[in-house]
Order: sequence, then structure tokens, then C-alpha cells
Amino acid sequence: MDQTKILLDENEMPTQWYNILADLEVAPPLNPATKEPMKPEEMEPLFPKSLIAQEMSQERYIDIPQEVLEIYKLWRPSPLHRAHRLEKALGTPAKIYYKNESVSPAGSHKPNTAVAQAYYNMKAGTERITTETGAGQWGSALSLCCNYFDIECKVYMVRSSFYQKPYRKSLINLWGATVIPSPSTETQFGRKILEMYPETSGSLGIAISEAVEEAALNDNTKYALGSVLNHTSLHQTIIGLETMKQFDKTEDYPDIVIGCCGGGSNLAGVALPYIRDNIAGKTDTRIIAVEPSACPTLTSGNFEYDFGDMAQMTPLLKMYTLGSEFIPPAIHAGGLRYHGASPIISKLVADGLMEATSYHQVEIFDAAVTFARSEGIPPAPESSHAIKCAIDEALKCKETGEEKTIMFNLSGHGHFDMASYDKYFSGDLTND
Ligand SMILES: *Cc1c(COP(=O)(O)O)cnc(C)c1O
Repeated sequence: MDQTKILLDENEMPTQWYNILADLEVAPPLNPATKEPMKPEEMEPLFPKSLIAQEMSQERYIDIPQEVLEIYKLWRPSPLHRAHRLEKALGTPAKIYYKNESVSPAGSHKPNTAVAQAYYNMKAGTERITTETGAGQWGSALSLCCNYFDIECKVYMVRSSFYQKPYRKSLINLWGATVIPSPSTETQFGRKILEMYPETSGSLGIAISEAVEEAALNDNTKYALGSVLNHTSLHQTIIGLETMKQFDKTEDYPDIVIGCCGGGSNLAGVALPYIRDNIAGKTDTRIIAVEPSACPTLTSGNFEYDFGDMAQMTPLLKMYTLGSEFIPPAIHAGGLRYHGASPIISKLVADGLMEATSYHQVEIFDAAVTFARSEGIPPAPESSHAIKCAIDEALKCKETGEEKTIMFNLSGHGHFDMASYDKYFSGDLTND
């Protein structure tokens, strides 16, 4: 029987990240006042110079610092699984693989960039980092990683998730950070929103505005973003680079690579190395982005310059967007409730180098249950979007008899999403 888990030794872990900006032209962020490309120094109130340099770098490979590699080794290289039992449950001739990013201490791919961001901030002497979090995964990842490097961390958590996911909040506290529901009374923008919409469920756009406002007003404080920006995608490429080395140990090569898309970082992480080879003409791998129908950025948004946040404080980013004022329904895949998608992912979709599709909430949970009852791991609702797409592609193979190799990124586990699963089982879960 073929392997079930394809593992790498620690010494086989990639030591460089892949920077797609060497191979893809992405429109620069614009200063909202002048409409000119942002100058590096204009971003310095929010980010350390080293990360700003990475954001704009055209170098194809960037060395991963030794101290970051050492933290990565606490859970990396992550396993690539062959989903034999899921294949059997579906009765498909397709081969299904998944990269398991749920094995990090925070339970998702997000620490891959949080470690790097905390490290470069530590090097730059940052004392405190503010951030936003949707479902709580980014907040917990950053809290974990600020703790490794002795940096204070404050998290603005989208209100609906703050109450839906109390244990994510506990985890953030466990690793030593402070967490408050957003909109909050601690910032000028939060107070304004609370006055206008006292009952709002909050949104990532609002929480970003609060975290940015606080960082901009305090010299010792920087801001960190868990997705969307080029440097977050860069750090996540460790996922796809590892996956490629793991496939080298099998007889297979993926025909289809699938990832769920919120801001686009786990998808970028798993897919960009494959897109590099597609662009070079070496391969013709299909890449599919999967998003919720309730927040259909790539499938229904416009590709244009827009703000990253609701207060319109961030630079303008050229991306697929539903509008920075869009407040998505409080669906359970909180990490996919963002009005935009990263400029890199957006450009890839616009250029036809990546496909995009969307699914409704109930069918996502159906897929999650099928996966959990065959493979065992309870998936995060976000990751279940990728699972649903992989299952659909595998069922197409069942009809045609094709033995395609399908790979998806399991971006995280759903241990903190049991209230959502309960709702699904009691029939209370709706499509939006
Ligand atoms: C945050 C998160 C996502 C969505 O973010 P991306 O930047 O699009 O990857 C997806 N899955 C999990 C488990 C997450 O925590």
C-alpha cells in the first residue's frame, strides 16, 4: 500500500522563502492622499524597515533567519497526508493529498508568518505589537510568537467571534497577550463605529482600523497583519516548498492544488511555488482558490484599488474587493470574512493563473463531516472550503474515471469551532 504520511526530516526543511514578485508584476500600494506609490518611509510608523524591504523586494529567494528556522522546527516540517480513507469513502479513482498545517501550536498556518514578523520586530527594537483578529487564529498565532521574542501584544478581536469563540480568546491570554472585542472604546474609530452601529457584529476592516490607529499614535508600537500583504505570502511559501519536497518522495505530482481564500495567505503559501513552475512553463498545475458565497471577493468583487480597512487609513491596494465598507454576514468561517484578497492572489486570478470558486456554508460543513469521519481530524470551517472543492474534484474523477492527483491545504483544525459544529448538527446553521 502507498504511504499514508509523507514526512521530511528537520534538515530537509527549506531554508529560503520564495518571492513571487521576482516572477509576477503586482501593482504597488498607493498613498491614499497623493495616489502615488507608497514610499518605504511612509510605512515606517507601522512596520519595521526589514519587513517593508521584504514587502517590496524583487529577490526570488530570501533566506529564512536561523532563529526563525529554530522556532519553525518546533512543529515543522508539517506532514503531507495521503487521504486513503477519504478516497475510499468517496469511491473515487483520484488520489487526494493534504498538507497538514493544523499541527502548529496555534492550530493553523498563521504562525509561519507570525514567527517571522515577531522576529524582525524584535530585531528592530519594537516593544509592542497591535493587531486584529477575525476568528482568533491570527491573534493566537501572533500572541504565541510575540511570546517567543518577548514582545507585548494587543489584539482587537472581531466582536462576533469574540463571543462565538471564547476559547480562542483564552488561548491568546495563555500566551500572554491582551485581547478586546472590536469595535472598542479604546480608539477614536472604534468609538465612532459604536455610536453609529451599537449592535454591529464587527468586521476585520473595523478591527484593522483600530489596531492601525493605535500603532500609528505610539512610537514603541508597531502593527502586524496576518494576511493580504506580500511579506505574509512570502513567509507562508514554506508550506508549498515543503510540499514539493514531499511529493518528490512519492510517484505523484499534483494536477490540482486547492486552498481556501480569506486574505489569501495560506493559499499563496501552498500555491506560489507551483505557480512559479507554471509560469516557467515546466508544469500545468490547476490552482483553485475557494471562498465563501457569503463573502465572494474573487468570484463577485471588482479588481480595483481599495482600502484595506473600513476607516480608510491603510494604503490603497489593487485587489479584488467587495468594497471596504462591506460587512459580511457572521458566518462561521470567520477567517474568510474579509472584503478583499491579497494583491498577489488578485493578480493571479485576473491573469488567469488561478481559478476561483465559492461554496455555501451548509455544504462546507457537510464536507467537513465527511472529512472528519474518514480522516479523523476535525477541520476548521475555513479549511473545509478547500476540502469541499477537493471532494467535488474527486467526485468528477469518479464520473470520468480519471486518476487525477488532488492536493489541498488543511490550513487549520477546528478544535475551537465546536459551537459551530453543534449548530450544524442541531440544524440551526444557515447559508448566511
Ligand atoms: C486565517 C485563516 C484562514 C484565512 O486566511 P488566509 O490568509 O486566506 O489564509 C484560513 N484558514 C485558517 C485555518 C485560518 O486560520
